[in-house]
Parts: sequence; C-alpha cells; structure tokens
Amino acid sequence: MSDNSTTTTGEIAAAVAQGRLPGRVWMYANYHCNIACAYCLTESGPKVARRALGPETMLEIGRQAKDLGFTDLGVTGGETFLQPHMPDVLAQLADLLPTVALTNATLFSRRLLDRITPLAGRDIALQISLDRPDADVNDEMRAPDNFAKVVTAIPALVQRGIKVRIATTVESIEDAELDRLCALHRDLGVPDSEHIIRPIVRRGRAQMQGFGVDAAQSDLPAELTITADGAFWGPFGPTVNGGKLDTDLLITRTMLPLSVPARALLGLVENRPQGADSTLNIR
Ligand code: SF4
Repeated sequence: MSDNSTTTTGEIAAAVAQGRLPGRVWMYANYHCNIACAYCLTESGPKVARRALGPETMLEIGRQAKDLGFTDLGVTGGETFLQPHMPDVLAQLADLLPTVALTNATLFSRRLLDRITPLAGRDIALQISLDRPDADVNDEMRAPDNFAKVVTAIPALVQRGIKVRIATTVESIEDAELDRLCALHRDLGVPDSEHIIRPIVRRGRAQMQGFGVDAAQSDLPAELTITADGAFWGPFGPTVNGGKLDTDLLITRTMLPLSVPARALLGLVENRPQGADSTLNIR
C-alpha cells in the first residue's frame, strides 16, 4: 500500500471511529424494478435502464470499505433481487461487514427463499417496505397485491431465521393506523426495534407527483453511496427525475478505489457548518 493510500485509510478509519463520517457504505445494485411506486426516488420500474453494479464490483466495494475502516454496508436499488447473483453476493458481503439490503419482498418464490436461506445466522437484515396496515391503502402508492405478497414473505423469511427490518415511508400516518401497523409487524415476527418510519423525500418520482418533504443536503445522511454512475452524498443522492440522473449530490465519478470518493466525502463533511446535521429523521 502506498503512503498516500495508507494516509487515506488512517484518515477515514479515524473519522468513522470518531463519528465524523457515517460508517455505512451504500451500493445501488441496480435501478430497475418489477413495480413502480408512486414515491420512488429513482423512478424505478420494469422498463428503466438497469445501471447495475456487477457482483465483482460489489464485492470489491465491500472489501475496500472494510479496509478503509467503514463499519457497515447497505445494498439498495431498484429491486435488488432482480439481480440473479444477489443471494450469493449478500452472503459474501455479510461475511465482510454487517449489511442491510433493501427489497420490496415481492419476488420471494420458494426457489428464491431456498437460495437466500444461507443468509440466516449471518449479520444481514433485509429491509422491506410496508407502509400501511390495510392492503388497499398500502397498494395505492406501491402496486396491486403488494401488501399480500409482503405479509406472506415476511413470516417466511423470519421462519428461516433471516433478520427482517420493516421500513414505513409515509407523508403522515394517524396514531390509530400506526398502532395497527405495529400490531401487524409484531404478528409477522418483526419486533418494534426493527421498524423504522421515515418521510417521503421530495426527489425522483415523489417530486414529479408533488409528494414529500423538501430535503437539503444537510438533511440527508452523508453515507458514501456508490452507483454505476459514480459516488454520491448518501443513498438519497442518486435519484432520477424525468428519466435523468440527479447530480446535485454527486461527489466523484470515480467509484474505485473507494478511497477517492471516501476522501472527497470526508472533505465535504468536514466543511459542513457546525450543527448542520439532519433533523428530518431521513434514513
Ligand atoms: S420504491 Fe422500491 S419497490 Fe418501489 S419502485 Fe422504487 S425501487 Fe421499486
């Protein structure tokens, strides 16, 4: 390792250890999806370009993230499980660092469930979207039969020993409706500690549809995020609007070596005004 890369490794590891830089590195595995939710940040759908990271690239990002001193990995999309190699890649990433992978949980056939069974017992959680306790209301923003597929998939995953986290993305939700949603996820085998509620961010399709909260850069977590198009300030950065990639939160076109975007992100974070951390609970 050169002196320069050794310095970068030390800088990044220290910044993560001291809490100056978030420890998670995200990867956008792909941009295409089998459904097209009304608030999707990436305007994902069945017909969009895949813009995928290949399995070797994902593993290299994971290895370099670990070497640099990052502490966690995240995998998002698009629908991640449209990538046929995803079960194997996730198992290998989880062997490097604790990992969370986002999925809409609509593709979990018996065959796919069998393929992901090796994730049981590994340090990985599948984060699944479930927004409402009633099928019709939930599916309005997502897709027909989405609710039914999700409430079938979650217990099947839990029974196999795979950790599930539920993400609820809403503009607002009444207390009584939230109580019913929480009762539902507990029934499905997911504890309160694995349920997150977050606002719709007004980017991507949400912006086109007039949904969500405006979020400035300082509102968005500065988690290094790697896509096929380069590195971004957080997983809410590489959004798509009107079919075009947003580049306002692009850090570098270089994705590897990971030290290049990591160092650039650290520079931006250190120049941020004091007290400019997120207040919107966006995660
Ligand atoms: S929000 Fe997720 S599940 Fe919905 S269209 Fe976008 S990528 Fe697909």
